[in-house]
Amino acid sequence: MDNKDIKVVKFGGSSLADAGQFKKVADIVLADPARRFVVASAPGKRHSGDTKVTDMLYNCYELAAKGEKFDNEFTAIEQRFNDIITALDIDLSLADEFDAIKYAFAHRAGRDYAASRGEYLNSIVLAKYLGFEFIDPAGYIRFDETGAFDLETTRSLLAPKLLATEKAVIPGFYGSMPNDTIKTFSRGGSDVTGSIVANACSAVIYENWTDVSGFLICDPRIVDDPKPITTITYRELRELAYMGATVLHEDAIFPVRKAGIPINIKNTNHPEDRGTFIVSDTAETSRYTITGIAGKKGFSVINIEKDMMNAAVGFGRNVLRALEKNDVCFEHMPSGIDTMSVIVNTESLIGKEKAVLDEITFRCHPDKMEIENNLALIAVVGRGMRKARGTAGRLFSALAHARVNVKMIDQGSSELNIIIGVEEEDFETATKAIYDMFVLTED
Ligand code: ASP
Repeated sequence: MDNKDIKVVKFGGSSLADAGQFKKVADIVLADPARRFVVASAPGKRHSGDTKVTDMLYNCYELAAKGEKFDNEFTAIEQRFNDIITALDIDLSLADEFDAIKYAFAHRAGRDYAASRGEYLNSIVLAKYLGFEFIDPAGYIRFDETGAFDLETTRSLLAPKLLATEKAVIPGFYGSMPNDTIKTFSRGGSDVTGSIVANACSAVIYENWTDVSGFLICDPRIVDDPKPITTITYRELRELAYMGATVLHEDAIFPVRKAGIPINIKNTNHPEDRGTFIVSDTAETSRYTITGIAGKKGFSVINIEKDMMNAAVGFGRNVLRALEKNDVCFEHMPSGIDTMSVIVNTESLIGKEKAVLDEITFRCHPDKMEIENNLALIAVVGRGMRKARGTAGRLFSALAHARVNVKMIDQGSSELNIIIGVEEEDFETATKAIYDMFVLTED
């Protein structure tokens, strides 16, 4: 097969939660011979009240680590896999694997090792079902001594292995440390493995299969049935993800972005849907001026006033030093001629308000200063905004019509985003108004 045509496909936990889902996954994988490398998550929730196998493993290991009995909890995990194997009617027994894992639990093999077994076992089952090879990432995906993922070493090990492999299933979520102990990525980390595998085999595309048909322009809890995003650039995604829009693990971007490989978010339950393409750059003009809207509540603003601030050299630095000294990270810093506002995450300021204000007073001697809480930030993101005239005008007139008071405006230098600050109680109204203005009226 032509190595240029490789597609890496990753299936999330809900896509592999039970035998029914396994069948859909097999249909998808086998429908396209280019889908040669499959990255699998542990079985996720089968219904809303269910527990993910990864969480079952964490709970079980916690008991083992305390020296308590964990047989019942372990049996429940075995059951999840055995149910899948039985319903798929495959000739496979995991009994030896279960024994080895149980032994390792009893001998405190580590929390990361424990969590990783969900992906490990699920991939053995999927490999058998598909008739693919099984590749254990412990030997290929490597972290350095500090626990940071090591892309260079990983590539040097994984690339030749993939080159020599026709088709394989690779467990997501983990790799190993220089001393060969298992280490996992943070939660949701199978996305990262998919991206690493795509990088290592120079895939044409990384398909990330999940339970939604890609990104939506806006949070469906705020706007009914929002339109999907068909194409988004990595930079736009970064802006939206920062504001809390999640579908993909943040660290999954880097390895594919670096290699110029697009990601296609697809829905295992609706494979015919186009999903969302995440690309480095695109000539495709977006259908709407904006690509997406995302926002978060829970910000505070420190307003500082001082006569002749504009002429005071180092004023901004001193304000930021005061925050740094108190270990508070700032989000935005819009300024006027004699005013400056610093926006911070409220949580990071709790209990430190007085210390921060005292430090600013000591360093900057402001005329007036106050902290305002209950601010929400909304990011309006879109590569189309750079070219479209009047975007800001439309945005603010939409907000004015919705009677939303805008407390802060910050346009990124890339002209890719406008971030506005509003009262938390106006958050939903403002988001809806922006959606209506840029999506409904442009349809
Ligand atoms: N199973 C892991 C988790 O639940 C990793 C993943 O699914 O991506 O976080």
